[in-house]
Amino acid sequence: MRHFDYARAESPQQAIAAHGSDRDAAFLAGGTTLLDLVKLDVMQPQTVVDINGVDLTTIERLDDGRLRIGAMVTNTTLARDARVVEDYAVLSQALLAGASTQLRNKATTGGNIMQRVRCPYFRDGVSACNKRDPGSGCAAIGGVNRSVHAVLGTSDSCIATHPSDMCVAMAAIGATVEVQGPEGTREIDFGDFHLLPGDTPAREHALEPGELITHVILEAPIHGSRSAYLKLRDRQSYQFALASSAVIVRMDGNTIREARVAMGGVGTKPWRAPEVEAALKGKAASEAVFADAAKLAFENAIAYAHNGYKIPLGQQAIVRNLSDLTAA
Ligand SMILES: Cc1cc2nc3c(=O)[nH]c(=O)nc-3n(C[C@H](O)[C@H](O)[C@H](O)COP(=O)(O)OP(=O)(O)OC[C@H]3O[C@@H](n4cnc5c(N)ncnc54)[C@H](O)[C@@H]3O)c2cc1C
Ligand code: SF4
Repeated sequence: MRHFDYARAESPQQAIAAHGSDRDAAFLAGGTTLLDLVKLDVMQPQTVVDINGVDLTTIERLDDGRLRIGAMVTNTTLARDARVVEDYAVLSQALLAGASTQLRNKATTGGNIMQRVRCPYFRDGVSACNKRDPGSGCAAIGGVNRSVHAVLGTSDSCIATHPSDMCVAMAAIGATVEVQGPEGTREIDFGDFHLLPGDTPAREHALEPGELITHVILEAPIHGSRSAYLKLRDRQSYQFALASSAVIVRMDGNTIREARVAMGGVGTKPWRAPEVEAALKGKAASEAVFADAAKLAFENAIAYAHNGYKIPLGQQAIVRNLSDLTAA
């Protein structure tokens, strides 16, 4: 067993001070990712800063209509919040499609955003993996890459999907991540938060060492819109997405006035699809229109040995979701 220091913080300031700008320190929220990876020896923090005593557990409506969510709000609380159920059905559904009841009761908003990939070569602790051990190679590219490997946003260094369902819904809604760190506070657009792997897959997000996510602010809901999350997976519960879609539409009769579309299970980050949104805008809803639009999302897709099926499956995730949402 490896030794590590443990500190318990009662405020963001205490948490940031205890963490410092040490790359080998980690915040402990629900622990459902961190503890697994420490036990697997994939993450080896020298210092663990427990933030369960930090009061970041409120959900508040801001004057401009946006919803501000504390980083320690659990996935269960967020999914069941009346404002989320009413105004952001896509988010509530995405959260409830993730993990299990017990995990959602522990998992937090900040931790969910920061969860690590489910690639088995990353988690086994020994295979070549540029994310875990930079420069060692990527065992997945020439190995088994059927379920948790991407067709969008991949590189020669890493092809792992971002596993979060919640983040796909947030990508569609539009959000801002509020962070606090040794240098003060700042805001990061949700679309810029997760990084493509490129040549540096070990760098997964825009946080600097020691920065703490304090809140996520969702854009104000689109008046008169409907939204839904559709997750396609090997079995219907307790399984990561093979392909998923988060869709928000505002209709005027049978005409699509506005659409937001994001995808999970197919990209190396939560994948917003602006080209699909543009192709839908102003069109009369029909399966043919949805299918043509969905194809655009995958124009730059790269299939690996075992995951080529994700290209038609991802398109179907968009088409089915749109069909259900726009049905009279
Ligand atoms: C068996 C299993 C099945 C799962 N299935 C799904 C699924 O289907 N869909 C899905 O979306 N997810 C799934 N998950 C992942 C789960 O959603 C995440 O483990 C969880 O959301 C992480 O939140 P946490 O609070 O437990 O994070 P922790 O484990 O406490 O932390 C995770 C990481 O985030 C960092 N961190 C935590 N909070 C902050 C903060 N405020 N600021 C900065 N850094 C922070 C930690 O240092 C750590 O590196 C599954 C997990 C398991 C174990
Ligand atoms: S896909 Fe990424 S996480 Fe998986 S082995 Fe390759 S570098 Fe590692």
